[in-house]
Amino acid sequence: MNTKLLTQNDIDQAAAILKNGGLVGIPTETVYGLGANGLDPEAVGRIFAAKGRPQDNPLILHVPSADWLERWCVDVPETAYVLAERFWPGPLTVILKRGPAVPDVVTAGLDTVGMRCPDHPVTRAIIRAAGVPVAAPSGNTSGRPSPTTAAHMLEDMDGKIDAIVDGGPCAVGVESAIIDLTVDPPRLLRPGGVTLEQLREALGDVAVDAAVVRPMGAGERPRAPGMKYRHYAPRAPVTVVTGEPEKSAAYIAAHAQAGDGVICFDEFAGRFPGKTVERLGPSHDKGEQARRVFDALRAFDSTSVPAIWAQCPDPAGIGLAVANRLNKAAGFHIVEA
Ligand code: AMP
Ligand code: MG
Repeated sequence: MNTKLLTQNDIDQAAAILKNGGLVGIPTETVYGLGANGLDPEAVGRIFAAKGRPQDNPLILHVPSADWLERWCVDVPETAYVLAERFWPGPLTVILKRGPAVPDVVTAGLDTVGMRCPDHPVTRAIIRAAGVPVAAPSGNTSGRPSPTTAAHMLEDMDGKIDAIVDGGPCAVGVESAIIDLTVDPPRLLRPGGVTLEQLREALGDVAVDAAVVRPMGAGERPRAPGMKYRHYAPRAPVTVVTGEPEKSAAYIAAHAQAGDGVICFDEFAGRFPGKTVERLGPSHDKGEQARRVFDALRAFDSTSVPAIWAQCPDPAGIGLAVANRLNKAAGFHIVEA
């Protein structure tokens, strides 16, 4: 298959591909998504094939506005509208009870479905033009770092999907926060662009699923099937180093071998002679770290580094999401400096 590169002006063409059961790479503010008609089980099945994604890892349905929720979900709680009012369009997915029109393949057979309204005008226009909710996971090969540019998505998906719409680099850079609104209190399943602090301000009590901060134990039942898979991984093994930036930099300088890769805050880039260095952004700028984290992980795949060491931000604000992606890339191989 020849994968077409479309521009922001090709909204009707992208919508037509979706309506015909094809796959389209769509730009969002978080990461690029791999979209299909969310009501067409065969089209959705092609997403799993293109990504090599396990069938028991559910997808998110993307809608252009909150008034689509009632069409695909049942018993929508008031909290969903409170969050939509504050954070949509934006990097937040809400887990709701699924309606009968949502195919099993989207939800991996769960009785819930993830819903999100992305903050990218081109993608919302494509969804409106297609007239169906668009099922989309991140546009990477399963297990690899998520793509934050059309070029990165093309690296993984060239020849496997119909088209990618280039909507520019992603403004947030990490995936949406996922909050389960079918439980009391609501539970954060994945930290993301909307922060835990913002969610607590809007809702009061919000629980944090254990899988956000530590690996799943053997035999433990995940709340969401996707939580059990290794994620975001570059080819070389990653060690995450936590603690004050000065300390983590010193730890990495002392332990990394010649030729290793290092992901560090910008201030420390000169501290690792003989290593391949990727900058994560200034230590005080977690927004930049979120935009950079997947590109930094992905960059090492064109090198032969045998191991990667990464400085890690503290968990406040979007730091929780950055740290979560690094920790998952490392298979939770974490040392405290
Ligand atoms: P991706 O962002 O590429 O990894 O794909 C969507 C994510 O949303 C996966 O991590 C899923 O586990 C999660 N997700 C989708 N639907 C549900 C659901 N009904 N319940 C819990 N998590 C979900
Ligand atoms: Mg993903």
